[in-house]
Parts: sequence; structure tokens; C-alpha cells
Amino acid sequence: MIVGIETGGTKVVCAAAEAGSPDVPLRVERFPTTTPDETIGRIHDFIRATGAVEAIGLASFGPVDADPSSPRFGRVTTTPKPGWADTDLLGRVATDGVPAAFVSDVVGAAVGELRYGAGRGTSSLAYATIGTGVGVGMIVDGRPIGGDGWPEVGHLLVRRHPDDDFAGNCPFHGDCLEGLTAGPAVLGRWGADASSFPEDVRDGRIAILASYIAQMAYSVMLTVGAEKLVLGGGVMQSPGLLEAVRAALPDLARGYGPASLSSADPTDVLVAPAIADSPGVVGALALADDLLP
Ligand SMILES: [Zn+2]
Repeated sequence: MIVGIETGGTKVVCAAAEAGSPDVPLRVERFPTTTPDETIGRIHDFIRATGAVEAIGLASFGPVDADPSSPRFGRVTTTPKPGWADTDLLGRVATDGVPAAFVSDVVGAAVGELRYGAGRGTSSLAYATIGTGVGVGMIVDGRPIGGDGWPEVGHLLVRRHPDDDFAGNCPFHGDCLEGLTAGPAVLGRWGADASSFPEDVRDGRIAILASYIAQMAYSVMLTVGAEKLVLGGGVMQSPGLLEAVRAALPDLARGYGPASLSSADPTDVLVAPAIADSPGVVGALALADDLLP
């Protein structure tokens, strides 16, 4: 058996699958992310209950050090999440003699979507989550970009929408992408989450969020030329938001950029996740499977 673990900022998803079939989780368990001791204890309970484990894949909320050549490989690094800064997550989850892979949660989701979801048949894909925070995992020619906590697309600086007077709530930058579009920014600005906007103000709010997310999408595509950008996370569940991001893109691109972007219709490029439930854990299982001969 192989085990995939996605540790998110609020919940953990553990899954077990047969070696060779990472896209078919046989047993899945979810529990809240609490203290490192309690959370890692529950992960060990899951691994023990799985029986003979041949490999483990771990995709964690970050920032993380996912550079295998770094002495701090496998650690959650500077997170403000209480108790988690500098936690040696991989070291504490890994079991003697069982090979283990370690990536950030967004890279795990990108691997899951590339291999078994919206990116099937492509070799370059980006996965963005716009939820409690904003993060983007990128795979170019089959290889994840970055390792030591980077890239940090969530803090991209964006042009302001003329109708948006919210100052932004990123503790570092105020009105960076995350400070304007993540769940806490939506709630702080409008007192409602993105799925429950009143009908009469919905279109205007969606247009503001879409303008920022489209800027991120265009910047990511210009930088890495990904064949697809998967847009996931809680904020993206808001009805009409994905369509509004697609609609905003041509005005930004103005025909310039990779062929996929300069077309008038980015429907095939900007897509929803195809793995509805935790693409990150499917990616973690796939990376575990890669470790087997
Ligand atoms: Zn920021």
C-alpha cells in the first residue's frame, strides 16, 4: 500500500491506495489541523491502520522547505500558524525504511491535476488555490518549480480595480493578490463570503475579484507558459467567478502571449479542478508511487 497525506492549514486528508493505483484511494480520512503533536499523532494512527506501507507522499501547507538538497528539507518554515513554525513535518511523519516524498500542498494539487485531472495529457500546468490564502504550484515539463518555499505567487502585486476601495489585509503588503482576493479579504471587505453575495451586488463584486485573479493568471502564464491553469479553492467556488476571470483575460492580454492566451476564448486554458475532492492528496499518492521501483 501507499499513503498520501495532505496537511492543509485547517484540515488534513490522509488516503491509502494500492501501489500503482494512486488515483484510486481505497481509504480516506479527514481531521482538523490542530497542534503539531496531535495532528502528527493522528497521521501516524492512519499509517499504522493501513498496514504494510511501501511509500509515503506528503503535501503540506507552507511555506515549506521542499528542496531535497537543503538541510531543512521537509520542514514547515515561517508559518504564522500557532505552533507550526519550523516543524520538521517530514522527519516526524516518515517511518524508518519507508521512502517518502515531500512537496507543498499546491504542488501536490498540481501533480494530482496534471496526472489524473484537468491536465491529463499535458506536461506543464499551474494549480492556483484562492481560499484561506492564495498559492500557486507550477509544473513545467513534468517538474515542479521551486523547493525552498518559492514561488510565492500569492503575494503578487496587482493593478487596483477602480471600484475597489478596500485597503487589502496582507500583513506585509496590504493590497497584494492575497490581501485582495483570499477568503479573509473577501469577508473583511464585504462582510460576506464569496458564495453568499446578495444578488444586486454580486456582479460588481465578482468583477473586482476576477480582475485580480485574471492578472495573476496572465502573469503566471507569461512566466511559465503552462498549458493549463487550474483555479481551485473556496473563493473560486463562487458562482460565475471562473467565467468572469476568463472574460477578463483577453483585455489584459490584448492578443499578446502564448497562443493559448492570446485567443479570444481561454475556456480550455483556465479550468476548474477535475478532482473535486482534494487533488493534493491524489498528487501525494502519485509522488509516493513514483518512489517505488
Ligand atoms: Zn502580501
